[in-house]
Amino acid sequence: MSFTALHPERGRLDATLTGLGQDLPWEGIYRARPRIRLTCPECGHGVHAKLSPRRVRYFAHDPGRSPHCQLSLESADHHLLKRVLAESIRRAGWSADLEVPAPDGSWRADVMATSPSGERRMAWEAQLSPISGDDIQMRTDRYSAEQITCCWVSSRDRVPWLRTVPGIAVTPAHLPEVVEGWMVHDGVVSFGPRRGAWARVGDVTLPAFVRWVLGDGLIFHTIGRRYRRIHLPGSNATVRCSAGWTTQRSIDAESAHEAMRQRQEAAKHVRQERERKAAERREQMERDRQRQEDERHRAEVEERNRRTRIEWERQSAAWEAEHREELRRQRQQAHLQELARLERDRQEQAAAQQW
Ligand SMILES: [Zn+2]
Repeated sequence: MSFTALHPERGRLDATLTGLGQDLPWEGIYRARPRIRLTCPECGHGVHAKLSPRRVRYFAHDPGRSPHCQLSLESADHHLLKRVLAESIRRAGWSADLEVPAPDGSWRADVMATSPSGERRMAWEAQLSPISGDDIQMRTDRYSAEQITCCWVSSRDRVPWLRTVPGIAVTPAHLPEVVEGWMVHDGVVSFGPRRGAWARVGDVTLPAFVRWVLGDGLIFHTIGRRYRRIHLPGSNATVRCSAGWTTQRSIDAESAHEAMRQRQEAAKHVRQERERKAAERREQMERDRQRQEDERHRAEVEERNRRTRIEWERQSAAWEAEHREELRRQRQQAHLQELARLERDRQEQAAAQQW
């Protein structure tokens, strides 16, 4: 299904616009007899005007369509989201065209928003099917090469590419046609200067979001490295988040906080440096004191050793003298004994001679 079709005379029809964007009543093509040859802008196959059970106008491919036409493969959810985006853009005062192809066929915007002056364009992509990070980045780059900004919109709960390219996750309204009932549940953040942290904003309607983005009130911002733990609305829980749509005021508040943090960091560094130097001085004094202590101790030991040596020398000398005296006494005694022996011998010899 699609919202656009080519009319053989009028050209491009858009089922979401009054008069199909060509001053043509819906009845002029819906079940018109004779049948008008409408074709698919994507594959050129015949299409016919149709009404959904909820009375949404769209175009369906005739039987025997090419199995590869992207427009024919898109789901009802996808179409609903495109229609809601187009409606939100138109309410913001910009024009919205659905399923707009690039002149060279390199892209096809789900909804192309054009500013009232015609100078600015922004592509809004309803992305419900899984897409790789590389693919979505490449498609975003193709738009920016032509000065077209873009926003990717998903109504899924888990959207892995949400931070890598500008995007949001939305919750459909209870009555899907009620555009104001659509809420942006992920992708919008604000910076709380007092808390010094980002928080997810949970109460933005899709039309308000679209109006703010088109009016430059919201900018896709990459969050500073130190601020990527962000708070969830109405709780103390945090999640990691590297980017989001936010106001210039929040971006400035983050910058101011970062500057303050850096000043505090610098002051802390100065303080730590001062403390480090004081500690160094204390250590130096302690080392000096220890050295003096050591020197005094060494001097004491030396003095003690000197005295011990002197005492030892004195005792040695005394022992020496004592020893010499002892030897002298022993020699004298031996001499006296020798004299006594000689005297005994002499007396014995004299006695023998008397015999
Ligand atoms: Zn087709």
